[in-house]
Amino acid sequence: MIDNVLKRQDVPVAETWDLSDLVPNEEAYNAGVKKIVEDAKNFNNKYQGHITDAKQIVNVISDYEALAESIIPLGSFVELDLEVDQTNDAAQIRTSKFGTISSQIASLVSFVHSEILELPTELLEEAIKLAPNYTHYINRLIDKKAYQLHPEVEKTLAALGSTFDAAYGLYNTAKLVDMKFENFTVGDQSYPLSYNLFEGDWELESDTDVRRQAFKAFSEKLADYQHTTAKTYNTHVQTEKTIADLRGYDSVTDYLLFDQEVDRDLYNRQIDVIMKELAPHMRRYAKLLQKEHGLEKMTFADLKISLDPNYEPSITIEESRDYMKKALAVMGEDYLEMIDRAFEDRWIDFANNEGKSTGAFCASPYGSHSYILISWTQRMNEVFVLAHELGHAGHFRNAHKNQSLFNSESSTYFVESPSTMNEMLIANYLLNNSDDPRFKRWVIATIIARTYYHNFVTHLLEAAYQRKVYELVDAGESVNATILNNLKRSVLEEFWGEDVEINKGAELTWMRQPHYYMGLYPYTYSAGLTISTQVSHRILHEGQPAVDDWIKVLQAGGTKTPVELAQMAGVNITTDKPLQDTIAFIGSLIDQLEALTEEIHQVK
Ligand SMILES: [Zn+2]
Repeated sequence: MIDNVLKRQDVPVAETWDLSDLVPNEEAYNAGVKKIVEDAKNFNNKYQGHITDAKQIVNVISDYEALAESIIPLGSFVELDLEVDQTNDAAQIRTSKFGTISSQIASLVSFVHSEILELPTELLEEAIKLAPNYTHYINRLIDKKAYQLHPEVEKTLAALGSTFDAAYGLYNTAKLVDMKFENFTVGDQSYPLSYNLFEGDWELESDTDVRRQAFKAFSEKLADYQHTTAKTYNTHVQTEKTIADLRGYDSVTDYLLFDQEVDRDLYNRQIDVIMKELAPHMRRYAKLLQKEHGLEKMTFADLKISLDPNYEPSITIEESRDYMKKALAVMGEDYLEMIDRAFEDRWIDFANNEGKSTGAFCASPYGSHSYILISWTQRMNEVFVLAHELGHAGHFRNAHKNQSLFNSESSTYFVESPSTMNEMLIANYLLNNSDDPRFKRWVIATIIARTYYHNFVTHLLEAAYQRKVYELVDAGESVNATILNNLKRSVLEEFWGEDVEINKGAELTWMRQPHYYMGLYPYTYSAGLTISTQVSHRILHEGQPAVDDWIKVLQAGGTKTPVELAQMAGVNITTDKPLQDTIAFIGSLIDQLEALTEEIHQVK
């Protein structure tokens, strides 16, 4: 049973993260903000107009990096404090003010790239020789040369930075502050509803009447905000299109892929192959769910139910720690030490409160430790969520220890590999430690329903929809709620075919995902999981050498392209094979689910 949602000030401190590691108090925050603005001005005075030789290039990059590093704790503090409670007035105002300050700083430092990019390529190559640690960084700058605008234009664009980000802020405000859900009723029973309750509980609820009624109430509330949300989203994609055009990219898609160091083949492959080849397996899975639950028809609102709802072990936060340590032991001592620190030093925000951002994420500010946001529901599958976020933490811990700030961040294409790798390791551990067919079925069902569904279905269908949106935008069109609803519905219908009814409200699913404000992010989940599936099989069969390769990949941070990182772990992502092998593996897991289900029914 679900309690009413708590206010932030009423949740136990032990369930909250400790942001004082970033900024000890408000006084320190204010002093810090003052200092970074001063530092940015001094930096500007020192270098603007003076970058003329290779030595100065290296000096300016290295001072720029130090300046950027000093801003990170403040920026992370501002952002994370708002994430746990978007209704917090003080945090809202602080975020807005910090946005203005960031734009001011961005404008003061925009000359760095402008001036470096005005210099001849030979000088940049000479700088690489002087500072080989900046090889990748400077090479990326050389690639950017073709898309750089006049320094004054760059400065103006930088000064408008917070305006360009405004759509995302508006989206979150409408969704998490203004949107208020009334209770919904089934029979004479009344149930509370919120974004987090819907996505964390009601969508998974095994009582069909309650689940479908929750979906209806949730969708009706979304519908009230569809036009504002669509308008906000259109503002965002049109801004991206304008910037892509100004900079001279062939399309908004090319512009968004540029930073990921990924070409169109890699991008399109994920969407095309999965839409076609994974769909038959997932429809089989939907049919299995339908049969087990005795449902007359399968609808979109039923896809998140668990195969065996009477077998959903519950788990405490402390028990989850034990699982993490056992399952991830293969990653080595340093990794286990990180897990202890995460639990003991309050890196994780477990609380469930009003205004908290939905889903789960891990933020890894350079120079500090990671912070993990999750809304703990006591369900055993939270073990997978937590392992996933700790995977991000482990990635950045390794990258930060071995790379300087500008070298630390890998392409978005690769970012979900270390996280999903941990989900695979948890699954392998659980499967190896039980012979009980019901438990085994629960584990495999969880990998399908959580790991693969989330990354290969939910986010991939978002990616397929997003690709259609950008096709329109590139053709000079605008989007509104009607168009977005139709696009989303068509993708869902294409994937699920006759086997799942895309019921009313499903077309509004595009409103639920903040990733649409982060470029071509949705498809990267399946890309990352393709790599981690292949490497986790290597770890299972080869053991230590595969783990060693993987740790090296994590340590490489942003010094390699996604293709190179995958290569280091023995996976060639320039062909269809890793993806097709992964889809075949998903198919084999669904075969096992069908067989185990049969076995369980025979014993009964
Ligand atoms: Zn993730």
